[in-house]
Amino acid sequence: MRFGICTLDEFSLRGKTVLCRVDMNQPVDHENGTLKSTARIEACAPTLAEISNAGAKLVVLAHQGSDIEYKNFYTTRPHADVLSGLLGKPVTFVEDVCGPTAREAIRNMKEGDIILLDNVRFCSEEQTLFEMKLRLSHEEQAKTQVVTKLAPLADLYVCDAFAAAHRDQPTLCGFEQVLPSAMGRLFEKEYCVISELMEAPQRPCTFVLGGAKISDAFLMLETVLAGGAADRVLTGGLVGNILLLAKGETIGQASVDFIYKSNYEEYIDKARVLYEKYADKIVLPHDLAYVENGQRKECKIGAVPLAIGAVDIGSETAKEYVDYIFASKTVFVNGPMGIFEEAPTELGTKLVFEALGDTDAYTVVGGGDSVTAAKKYEVNKKISYICTGGGALIRFLTGEELPVVKALRHAAKTFGAR
Ligand code: ADP
Ligand code: MG
Repeated sequence: MRFGICTLDEFSLRGKTVLCRVDMNQPVDHENGTLKSTARIEACAPTLAEISNAGAKLVVLAHQGSDIEYKNFYTTRPHADVLSGLLGKPVTFVEDVCGPTAREAIRNMKEGDIILLDNVRFCSEEQTLFEMKLRLSHEEQAKTQVVTKLAPLADLYVCDAFAAAHRDQPTLCGFEQVLPSAMGRLFEKEYCVISELMEAPQRPCTFVLGGAKISDAFLMLETVLAGGAADRVLTGGLVGNILLLAKGETIGQASVDFIYKSNYEEYIDKARVLYEKYADKIVLPHDLAYVENGQRKECKIGAVPLAIGAVDIGSETAKEYVDYIFASKTVFVNGPMGIFEEAPTELGTKLVFEALGDTDAYTVVGGGDSVTAAKKYEVNKKISYICTGGGALIRFLTGEELPVVKALRHAAKTFGAR
């Protein structure tokens, strides 16, 4: 038991039918039906190997794509092949989620068998829009089709989907109401890393916050400052721009327009309050970069040409941030320092990530685009911990009890281990 949640150590698995919910959601190449990355499949493979090798009948549940961005909706068939390669044993793909075909396949399993069911979000009750509109309680989620059809066939539910732990959906929070449940190894690991980072970081502990997901970034900024986890927060990207604007600095009219156009106006006041309260801990860029005729140009804060927007931190700021990183024992990065996807505006992000690769500090990177940046600058293997989840991670850092954590704790109390 850890964090009030059962772990795999507490269950004997031989001969048991185990439903394991993972997060293998990956970018898909729709032209040829292949996965553009297999990182999340690799991350959960050890848990699946452990369950299967212990002699369980393993039924894997996963989603692929979001119904909000429907174009990314896809079957989990390609995932079965990738998983099979990683585990070195057959993974049978079943083209059904909880209908008669899926149930028949589960009933026919033998010890050590693995099946992967199709995309759970093909069931409407599993979709994000359904979650947001209906807000089913966990007890109500236990009455959904997917739970009522699959739970009677299983002995144990395992959730290894930390990246989806902020979602309140039946395959994530419903089974815990009716089955003994445990977290998988990846879930356990991510939970551990992040809670240590929040509670007892090696100091000095520096957070680097950038990117464009403003609501999440400000939530996190407030949490790590108010909770005392951060000794220093280095800011860049749009987050930095909003803080600079709140402080009354000139960041270029295009940046200001962008902030208003994106409805981030409310964050200017929030930024002002936070900056006044934590001025000694928040580090703002003192030079910025912009693009003119396709070329990178840099200038001091206050001198950004009016019509142009700031799209990266300047090289002096980047060097200062690198020094801060080398002087820290823990560094957490969420969000790039600029539009790193384009060559003229990648410098700030590149220098920060290269420093992350070189420092001896304990380094954690979270967020989809930040992980992409870590790969782009070839430091992903040198980062101490790359979180598979962005949204879950940020909500965790804010101190909120994640829905899946709540459900797993409920199962630990109700059913214990067996
Ligand atoms: P993550 O996915 O790591 O959590 P975000 O999604 O919050 O990060 O932000 C990443 C995006 O922010 C990138 O696509 C990047 O181009 C963009 N970005 C970074 N700096 C700026 C900026 N100054 N203005 C506009 N967009 C920015
Ligand atoms: Mg992103």
